Amino acid sequence: MDFSYTESDEMVREAAREFVKKYVLPKRDKISYGNRIPDEIIKAAADAGFIGFNISQEYGGAGGSISQMSIIIEELAKGDVSMALPVYVLLVNGWPFMLQKYGSKEAKEEILPNIVKGRTFFGIGSTEPSGGSDVMSEKSRAVKNGEKWLASGEKVYISGVRESLELPGGGGFLTLLRTGDESLGSKAFTTFAFMIKDVHGKLNDKVSTTLFNNIAREGLSTGGFAFNDVEIDDKYRVGDVGKGFHIIMEGFNVARIYVAAACNGAATEALNMGIEHLKTRNLFGQPLGKQEGLQFELAELYGKLESSKLLTQRAAWLMDKVYFSNEKVPLSEQNKYVSLAKMTAPPMAHELITKVMVWHGALAYTKDTPLGAAQGGVMSYYIGAEGGINIMKLIIARELLGKEFLSYKSQ
Ligand SMILES: Cc1cc2nc3c(=O)[nH]c(=O)nc-3n(C[C@H](O)[C@H](O)[C@H](O)COP(=O)(O)OP(=O)(O)OC[C@H]3O[C@@H](n4cnc5c(N)ncnc54)[C@H](O)[C@@H]3O)c2cc1C
Repeated sequence: MDFSYTESDEMVREAAREFVKKYVLPKRDKISYGNRIPDEIIKAAADAGFIGFNISQEYGGAGGSISQMSIIIEELAKGDVSMALPVYVLLVNGWPFMLQKYGSKEAKEEILPNIVKGRTFFGIGSTEPSGGSDVMSEKSRAVKNGEKWLASGEKVYISGVRESLELPGGGGFLTLLRTGDESLGSKAFTTFAFMIKDVHGKLNDKVSTTLFNNIAREGLSTGGFAFNDVEIDDKYRVGDVGKGFHIIMEGFNVARIYVAAACNGAATEALNMGIEHLKTRNLFGQPLGKQEGLQFELAELYGKLESSKLLTQRAAWLMDKVYFSNEKVPLSEQNKYVSLAKMTAPPMAHELITKVMVWHGALAYTKDTPLGAAQGGVMSYYIGAEGGINIMKLIIARELLGKEFLSYKSQ
């Protein structure tokens, strides 16, 4: 087993660090507590090649690996611990990657180059009011009508609704819609590139949108969109009819690695802040870091962080085999290792950041440190974005025990 990064990995990390220094740190507060990520940062991230990093050169991307993308995301999260920017970047890599794999030539040529340029947002539209964990219960549907589909339904808690409305090249989501009846089980779903504003900047006026008032990660919106008999051209169907459930599950396996990398990045920055505080805060005539009780906490947190990084790296390495060296990796292995990374990183980051906040005392309860923003940011992934922690546990248990042990209906 080789734990070293390649020269090319180190170059990617260095480029991301430089980017953070130049563009993110000077505007960190704006991203944490402002309206949304400033357009010039999105443009700079696109110019640096971080947006559409996984997209092939044919569409203007870098054709970069999952491992290297994880490095970029980790570094971006060290810079923006509120997670808005790393999450923005992970979404516009992970989900267009699925569009690239399964989409029609026309849709890819239209949408992908605009994503790569940073003009267009593209995320995931799965969750519905019936519950994000229970994907099979989703009701939004599309019915074939000649060369078009007529789609009706509602998606909620979707990242990037505001960005899709406000970016010049609009945006949309890899959206899961029911195209068959319940008896088909998981084969009842199909995915579409559902653009709420197209790449030419034209709003789909039959789609109504809402925005949620999030407790954190303020630089990236979550919202909802509702649609009633909205026409979707068949060219925007992503993958075969009936394959949608499996396509979004595949996309989650990529996105969840990036989520883990983002949590690891925010936690790393928080721990560095904690170490600095332990060294410089003097109480009872000595630095706080001389208290062995806190040293024990520090060592334990560091161990948890390093374990989480290794799990993330292992999952990324495994998925690179799938996508970049065409090696056969059983799906159960992919599911298990990706879910291990996503099960571990958000709670680890939340615990670590919370402890570092406690070390900081009242200072951490103000916006003078970014720790509160970091805690709220990683909480989104603890709660459920890209799949709840309990769902990760159920996937791991399913792969260890067998599907027949699931207590609920699955594919
Ligand atoms: C900031 C943020 C951004 C998001 N962005 C997107 C997005 O871009 N696109 C998108 O589609 N969705 C998005 N989501 C929604 C996310 O996918 C859902 O929150 C997640 O799937 C959980 O669904 P839910 O919130 O409806 O909770 P529920 O499904 O109602 O689950 C509630 C709790 O019950 C637990 N639970 C569920 N089933 C079981 C079980 N069988 N056993 C034990 N525990 C269980 C879950 O882990 C969770 O903790 C986002 C959410 C957040 C918070």
